[in-house]
Amino acid sequence: MSEILIDRDLCKGCELCVNACPQRILAMGKEINTKGYFFASVAEQKRCIGCRLCCITCPDMAIQMKVSGTMYHYFAY
Ligand code: SF4
Ligand code: SF4
Repeated sequence: MSEILIDRDLCKGCELCVNACPQRILAMGKEINTKGYFFASVAEQKRCIGCRLCCITCPDMAIQMKVSGTMYHYFAY
């Protein structure tokens, strides 16, 4: 099972991930992060199909995925 992890303080609130998710399970929150942006979070984790579109779409590498206990760091180079 996959788990989506969003680093709230890397997020700049662009909403690209929210629009990219085919399951529509990402949403913008009402709190702000340390940069002063509203940040994205996972609203319904159990409906995630593990497609990774959100991880690939985020321009700030704020989204990572954990699959069966293993973390996958996209574009972390
Ligand atoms: S992995 Fe796919 S289904 Fe899961 S939150 Fe990201 S975009 Fe949505
Ligand atoms: S794509 Fe990245 S920076 Fe944009 S809202 Fe989603 S997590 Fe935040």
